[in-house]
Amino acid sequence: MINIAIDGPAGAGKSTIARTLAADLGYIYVDTGALYRAVGVNAMRRGADAKNAEQVTATLPSADVSLRFVDGEQRVYLGEEDVSLAIRTPEASMAASNVSAIPAVRDFLLDLQRSIAAGNNCIMDGRDIGTVILPNAQVKIFLTASVEVRAKRRYDELLGKGMQADYETVLDEMIRRDEQDMNRAIAPLRQAPDAVAVDTSEMDLEQVLNTIKRIVKEKQ
Ligand code: C5P
Repeated sequence: MINIAIDGPAGAGKSTIARTLAADLGYIYVDTGALYRAVGVNAMRRGADAKNAEQVTATLPSADVSLRFVDGEQRVYLGEEDVSLAIRTPEASMAASNVSAIPAVRDFLLDLQRSIAAGNNCIMDGRDIGTVILPNAQVKIFLTASVEVRAKRRYDELLGKGMQADYETVLDEMIRRDEQDMNRAIAPLRQAPDAVAVDTSEMDLEQVLNTIKRIVKEKQ
């Protein structure tokens, strides 16, 4: 199977790029952040403090997280409930970042991610795909952009979805989440030594796509 790993901080454009590229190549797109979000939402619903390892770990047996692919689109389920929308709130983002620093949570989601990659040609995005989950991925991309650009993109995206948003709040939250994701003890956000870094701050979507397509072609 061919596996393409795309890692990078929130708002760098990973999901847009990965989704478009996957449709182009006929691969499935796996958004691993959605898994951490689903675990975070399950923990919140069960009254756990997302920062408390013991409380969150106790909710894991009830976190029946699965991914289903409908026409190449990923849907996220908790049991039989489609939580694809519920996991996109700012509270769910922060809960995901908090629970993802807990080793038991990362262990819990490891096999699921590897088994999807073993059974499918896929583009998988996240924070530790190239470093931990799929160290042998044929192509690894590390997508970045300045935090201001990323916050502006996320702000526009929220408005576009008809959600209420305030730029300063989005920026603050992004800085906090980056700091947490980069400095945690386990699987911190890092560029794999064999990943190609692409800074998208000054690029539009088409430029990023062309750059990544060129890298994929060269590496395959
Ligand atoms: O990518 P997304 O913003 O949906 O991810 C939500 C949170 O899940 C991130 O802030 C990060 O803490 C965590 N995450 C992770 N490892 C991944 C994907 C996401 O720790 N592979």
